[in-house]
Formats: sequence, structure tokens, C-alpha cells
Amino acid sequence: MSTKNISPRLFCILGLVAVAVIAGLLFLTTTLEKTLIGTCVTLIFLVCYIIYKMSDGWINQYEAEQMRSDQTRFTARIDRYRLSLSALPEAVVLFRQGHTVEWCNPAAEKYLGITLAKHLGMAFNLVFDNPKIIEYLEKGDFSLPIEVKSKEPGRVLMLSAVVADKTHFIVVARDITEQRRNDEMRKDFVANVSHELRTPLTVITGFLDMILRGKELDEKTLHEHLLLMQQESGRMQNLVNDLLSLSRLENKDEQETDPPEVVNMAKLVASLAEDGVALSQGRHTIDTNITTDEAVMGHVDEIRSACLNLVTNAVRYTPDGGKIEINWFENPDDGSAVFSVKDNGIGIDADDIPRLTERFYRVDKSRSREKGGTGLGLAIVKHVAIRNNCRLDIQSEPGKGSTFSLIFPKENLLA
Ligand code: ADP
Repeated sequence: MSTKNISPRLFCILGLVAVAVIAGLLFLTTTLEKTLIGTCVTLIFLVCYIIYKMSDGWINQYEAEQMRSDQTRFTARIDRYRLSLSALPEAVVLFRQGHTVEWCNPAAEKYLGITLAKHLGMAFNLVFDNPKIIEYLEKGDFSLPIEVKSKEPGRVLMLSAVVADKTHFIVVARDITEQRRNDEMRKDFVANVSHELRTPLTVITGFLDMILRGKELDEKTLHEHLLLMQQESGRMQNLVNDLLSLSRLENKDEQETDPPEVVNMAKLVASLAEDGVALSQGRHTIDTNITTDEAVMGHVDEIRSACLNLVTNAVRYTPDGGKIEINWFENPDDGSAVFSVKDNGIGIDADDIPRLTERFYRVDKSRSREKGGTGLGLAIVKHVAIRNNCRLDIQSEPGKGSTFSLIFPKENLLA
């Protein structure tokens, strides 16, 4: 109880004490004064007594108001906690004594299929239909979380339980699908890199062993072996270069990078055509069509490497005698500018197109290897496209050819 509460009582008690003191003093004064003062004392006494009695009511009223405002504050606090728990991306279910549902948030419906409307007051073994969860909760050893399937198809949850107090425990489930996918991708990536490096290394060490064992080899065979070794080390070099490019791009994603600069695409396309001619070594007809002088805002080295990848692929996957077009033009429909490489090569099946930008995805592994491919080229192109605000488009038909385009939206252009 606060000092505010006792102050009326204190006031009355002090009043009564004052009356007693004055009454004591009266014995020392005259009779008339005694009568007047006696009357006043009686009145003061009565007033103090009435106030004393009324103070009980005031205090009760004050306490009731205090309780009401405490309750309102408490309810508001609970509402705030509930609101925060409701907004959590994790599923949260509160169980009370008897292991029945007391509360859950909206994510609990999404991941665990639990709703208050349907499951309030129901025991956990009726609420969950996954035996793994029921066993976990029955055992009561919550030291480690468990991995379970989500109600959302194809998603995985990390589920754990926490004992809140003697009568309550909380089940929390977090969607870890992306984390698992990233783990898988990392494992696949390491396995792929190891595999890609192992093949050329096996060839090189095999030939070296043969040479070192002093096996008699005529000059022609030795030359052939050395050429193969050179080819295999070139393949490893390509792979390491592509891996470094990817890693650099990923690092740039995480760090602050240089601001975009003006990229003169017409000039860049002309120089790419020269690279294409050098790569093709006269095996293909390479035409260049530059019909706009639009420049773009971006990172010149990245854009150049992405465009060169597309040109290299066209040369790789177009049989000798084929035709390749390198274009830079404005699309009148939406004002975007397009860099495209069109070939009349082997083409790609529609089912493969969405997977081409995955790391190490190749339609024909041996063909790609034979042509010096690493399976990382289009993954790099996609990454560059995202970083430079453009879009990679792939149109292809098996046996007829392919067109790979980088589309720069109007907002990214400088006339
Ligand atoms: P790679 O180093 O194997 O060329 P990329 O990531 O550059 O790797 O390309 C992935 C796959 O896409 C290639 O292995 C190939 O099967 C296919 N591809 C890419 N460009 C073309 C193209 N112009 N014509 C036909 N297939 C292509």
C-alpha cells in the first residue's frame, strides 16, 4: 500500500492526538473558555472520526482503481507478447498442464497444422500426427532439437521444446529448408569441383608415372602424351579461373563494390566479335549487328566476361560451318537494349533450359569437357546479370540453334 493510501488515516490519527493534547490543556484554563473549547474539541473529534470512517471507503475505491489499472497494464503487456510471438516466423505452441494446447501463433498452422480454433485444449498426442514429434515430447528430453517434415509440402523443420515452468512447455519449429538446401549445394559443389579436378589430374599423373618408370616411348607417342597433359592442365586452369570468377562475384555481393560506370556497349560488342573470330579460327561465319549506340550503367569487366561467355558457348556448341550473330540493338516495344548471341548450332531441349545456370549443369558432359567447358559459364553470366540489373533470356530449339540475350532495361541505359 502506498503512502497516498494511509495519508487520510494518518491525518485522522494526528487530529485525534491533537484533540487529546488540547483536552489535557483545558484543565489549566477558566470555566467559560473550557465550555467553548470543549465544544470545539468535540466538533473536531466528530469531524476526525467521520473522516476516519470515510477513509476506509476511499481506500477501497483507490485500491480497486489500482487493481483495474494494473490488470489493464498486465493485459496490454500480454497482448504485446502475443503480438510479438504471432509475428515470429517460427511456429510457437504453448502447452499447459495435461499437455493440452493453450496458445499458438499463425506460423504454427502453416508449419504444424495447429490452430487455436481447432486444437485449443487438445492433448499433444492428438494435435500432432507425426510419431517422431509425439515420441520426442513423450520422452521429455529436450536437450537436442529434431528435424521433421513441415505441413508445407517439401519443407523441413527444426523442432525443439522448452520447459517454461512447472506447468507449461513451449514447442518451437523453424523452417530450415533453405539452410539444408544451401548445405546440400555446398556439398555438391565441393564434390563437383573435386570430381572435375580429379579427372585431369588422373590423366596427368598416369602419363607422368609412365614417363618416370622409364618405359620406352617413341618420340611421337611421347609428344601425344605431352599434348594430352597440356590439354588436361588447360582444363584445370579454366576450372580454377571460373571458380575464382564466381568467388570474386560472390565476395563482391557481400562487400561494398565500386559504383557502376558507363559501359560503351557498341565498342565492347565490336571487340567481342574479334574474340569470337579468334576462338572460331575460321570454322564459323561470325556477323556483328550494332544498331544502337546506347551505353549502359554497370561494371565493365563483369559485363565483358558475361558476354564473352555467351560468344564462347556459341562457338563451342555450333558445329563447323555454322553461323553466329552478335547483336546490340534497342527493343522498340519497351525501350530496353539487348545484347544477343544467336547461333544455328546444336540447340537445347526445353527441359534443360531452366537448369543451364546451375553450377556444373551441362546438357552433354563429355561434349562440354571436350570443348574445354567447365559447366560454370552460365552460372557466372546469371550472377553478373543480377549484379548489373539485366536479365538473361535463353531461346533454343534442338537441332536449330540458340539465342542467348542479356536484356538491359530502359532505366539502365544512357543514350
Ligand atoms: P560449359 O562450360 O559446359 O559450356 P556453361 O555453363 O557455359 O558450361 O553452359 C552450360 C551448358 O549449356 C553447356 O554444357 C551446354 O550443354 C549448354 N549450352 C550453353 N550454350 C549453348 C549453346 N549456345 N548451344 C547449345 N548448348 C549450349
